Amino acid sequence: MILDCHLHWRRWPDHFPQVQTKGMTEEQFNQAKARSERTAERALKDMGEAGVDKGILVGLKSGRTHGVEVPNELIAEAAKPHAGKLYWGPAVYLNDHGAADELEHCIRDLGAVAIGELSPGYGNYSLADPACSPAYEVAIAYDIPMLIHAGPVGTAKSYLKYANLDDLDEMCVNFPKLKVVLCHMGEPRYHEAANLLSRHANLYADVSMMPLGGGVGTGPGGGKPTVFHPFPHLDEPILYWFSMPSRNPNKLLWASDVQNPKESIEGFRGINGRLKKMGYPTIPEESIERMFHENWKPVFTKIKA
Ligand SMILES: [Zn+2]
Repeated sequence: MILDCHLHWRRWPDHFPQVQTKGMTEEQFNQAKARSERTAERALKDMGEAGVDKGILVGLKSGRTHGVEVPNELIAEAAKPHAGKLYWGPAVYLNDHGAADELEHCIRDLGAVAIGELSPGYGNYSLADPACSPAYEVAIAYDIPMLIHAGPVGTAKSYLKYANLDDLDEMCVNFPKLKVVLCHMGEPRYHEAANLLSRHANLYADVSMMPLGGGVGTGPGGGKPTVFHPFPHLDEPILYWFSMPSRNPNKLLWASDVQNPKESIEGFRGINGRLKKMGYPTIPEESIERMFHENWKPVFTKIKA
């Protein structure tokens, strides 16, 4: 059973408060909407085309830097008619007074099975700030994993110092029972991420939004590189992880974020073809399939396979 553990839900332009739609042509408006909006219906359609069985709709709070603010109640409402197929997770600024209460409300009253997507880079706060601790305690008490984008983010208003993995490490040391999924495998800090994954038992990583091999992939930026070279971006971090003498190779979870799920799955299933072409060793096919089908199971315990 394939779970997409990180699928963004949002409406456009409602949840993009910084977007100026005035002056846009109808065509520009519709193109931006098609690129940026994801309803439950759209998620289900994309999942169906990709052969994905279940998905977790997640929110985002990045109004401080990036301009996306998705109300948690709306995500809960969107997932509700599709119970058993779609699940959901709320986002907060972890250092906000009231973040822990909001998370507890979403879990206890609105059925959230995950917390996310959280991002200290987008929110300009540190994961090691003691103000975040009550939120961690709630997640531990309910055994709900946190999806955290702890690596750098792509906006001019965010500080790199909050997007370092050192604070994630400190959080994992201080809260060893907290289940965390590091989004995008810490992109582009893959090697640091691999070290943390091998040291912290309850730290996992999702492989969403890593540039896909073979020239496919639709990121939110929509830009195409001048030279497409998959190895440093997707294949190298994955190969590095599997070549580490790690105790647990099953810590990578597949997710699509805002990528097309079908293209993403094809990109990962194409890894060995590309590695062979470049003369590198290949990854056991079973390990790649486990990223889709198995590795999420000890993490998202509220979802039954
Ligand atoms: Zn995301």
